[in-house]
Amino acid sequence: MSRAELVVDVAAIRHNIRRLGEFTATPVMAVVKADGYGHGMLPAARAAREAGVPWLGVATVDEALALRDDGDAGRVLCWLTVPGDDLMPPVARGIDITAYTVDELDRIAEATQRAGRKARVQLKIDTGLSRGGSTLASWPDLVARARAGEETGTWTVTGIWSHFSSSEVPDDPANATQEKLFREALDLADEAGLRPEVRHLANSAAAILRPSARFDLVRCGIAAYGLDPAPGLTPPELDLRPAMTARADLALVKHVDAGAAVSYNGRWVAPEATTLGLVPVGYADGILRSAGNRGEVLVAGRRRPIRGSVCMDQVVVDLSGDEPTPGDPVIVLGPGTSGEPTAQDWAEATGTISYEIVTRLGGRFARRVVDSESDREI
Ligand SMILES: *Cc1c(COP(=O)(O)O)cnc(C)c1O
Repeated sequence: MSRAELVVDVAAIRHNIRRLGEFTATPVMAVVKADGYGHGMLPAARAAREAGVPWLGVATVDEALALRDDGDAGRVLCWLTVPGDDLMPPVARGIDITAYTVDELDRIAEATQRAGRKARVQLKIDTGLSRGGSTLASWPDLVARARAGEETGTWTVTGIWSHFSSSEVPDDPANATQEKLFREALDLADEAGLRPEVRHLANSAAAILRPSARFDLVRCGIAAYGLDPAPGLTPPELDLRPAMTARADLALVKHVDAGAAVSYNGRWVAPEATTLGLVPVGYADGILRSAGNRGEVLVAGRRRPIRGSVCMDQVVVDLSGDEPTPGDPVIVLGPGTSGEPTAQDWAEATGTISYEIVTRLGGRFARRVVDSESDREI
């Protein structure tokens, strides 16, 4: 065991993905971008395939190529290219590339020449997130060019998709508006002669909360890792299980007197004598600095508040007179089944979302991948 480690249980990832497939009755694309939301892209991708997903989703071409390098031969979609990306390798390796513009289609066409192979292209329509994707105004030109490329044998248009802005707020009228625009974009594509294999719109929250948005495929990221995309709204029978536990060895225990000012700038002053514990992870390891005086960790069976500022390499917690032994385990976050805080608890303490909590953990945390179903260590 390392002094500080992220323990990732791939059995939990498999379980979550199977449950998402059963619950939505729709094929699942497991989204493994951003190093599998901090869980490790390759172990997450392998677990997802074991759970039977037909698709993996990533942001960048490099992420998609890393999946191929790992031996993954299944369907992989990427959706964030930049003009400098060489699109020949993803075309050559059968990766589905998302195009937002005619310009991107031209670059894909050029890459097919060098790859000596037909490309697989998906088109993204911007239905209201105003991030990536074609506007509705540009859509007719994009689908016309995409259809022309099919006719010349340059590519197959394998998918059409979009992305919600507010799916974790099911009552937000933006959801219905986006879904309606998505259907309009699908109709226009159909009129232009496109017959994509998959139409997809839903991320985790929409997959769970908005059946009308499931179409042919649901793109699940956060829920695959067992974190709740819509806290308070997700049906408990979905039974999501957080896959990550972050732990560290307690570095030091000591007594301080009343009036001791703790950590930089003395942002917490002991009102009475207490014991303090030193936890050897800090903001360089992804512990948000905003958790100063707010976050909690589990030591010796109890939640212990962080006192003062989070430092680069360490945080100080209040042991309230208890005296655990240096070297004892500190659970920073986990599934919550032993009383430890969850990523959601950290998110609420620091004013962010669980996505940011888990994707930021890294730095000097080692990663250990385990399989609780087979007691395998991977
Ligand atoms: C990250 C991402 C997802 C996954 O979203 P979750 O809310 O984590 O399920 C789906 N689609 C796109 C386009 C994304 O960028």
